Amino acid sequence: MTVAERRAALEGIAAEVRVCSRCRLHETRTKAVPGEGNPDTEVIFVGEAPGMNEDREGRPFVGRAGGLLVDLLGHIGWRRDDVFITNVVKCRPPGNRDPEPDEIAACAPYLERQLAALDPSVVTTLGRYSMATFMPGVRITQAHGTTRLVDPATGARDATVFAMYHPAYALRNPAVERESYEDMERLPAVLIAARERRASVAAATTEAPAAATEAPGTATSSGTASTQGPAVAPGPPQAPASAPNTPTDDIPSDAAIAAHDAASDRTDTDQLTLF
Ligand code: URA
Ligand code: SF4
Repeated sequence: MTVAERRAALEGIAAEVRVCSRCRLHETRTKAVPGEGNPDTEVIFVGEAPGMNEDREGRPFVGRAGGLLVDLLGHIGWRRDDVFITNVVKCRPPGNRDPEPDEIAACAPYLERQLAALDPSVVTTLGRYSMATFMPGVRITQAHGTTRLVDPATGARDATVFAMYHPAYALRNPAVERESYEDMERLPAVLIAARERRASVAAATTEAPAAATEAPGTATSSGTASTQGPAVAPGPPQAPASAPNTPTDDIPSDAAIAAHDAASDRTDTDQLTLF
């Protein structure tokens, strides 16, 4: 998909969300909050549900939690328009109560289609509800700051999920806020490792002569991707399409960056920034 096609797809989804009445939350919302951001980004942030300010403006993370999210992004030199920001549920639950399972289920197709349109390398989850969608069965106290492979059934066909605490929770707990800054510091390396894995998979699934020129030494005879970089912990080779929700390594390598550059028209002059 071209950027223009991605933008059009995202705008089409947003238009549907704004008039959606698939669940009871449409009765009490002021404005639905489809999400917003860069249609050409490699990173999507997924929160829980709009709050009071978001409901008023129709935009995600514009209240105090949003202020912290922007500060966290600024900590690694990123801005909110470098990424795409959305929520599991697109309309505000009354009184900011937790979203109910049937509301999450009713809204899920919108997130799925946003993920399909963006094809992100990294899905960063903010809080437990978002994490549960992409890293089922883990506890946030243990999983925050870690990655897994994303199940393509979520709509993200080849992505790594990175779990973070919800910024609203961090605002109420100074220790969690400190940990959130530490977690955020890992995100650039997570992105580069995710690019490396995607490039390796692309090289392994391309016929040999083409693959040999762009990503030396990344394909094996079994068709499984292997990487050049040092591993954080020993583990099986990554097999993203068939083994979702398994831990991934977060160490980038120069080969990964070069392979990504060769495979993409996105240019990377600084490995700590997105573009
Ligand atoms: N909290 C969320 O989870 N999402 C928002 O958009 C704002 C606050
Ligand atoms: Fe539709 Fe989602 Fe809003 Fe429910 S929360 S009305 S499913 S957009």
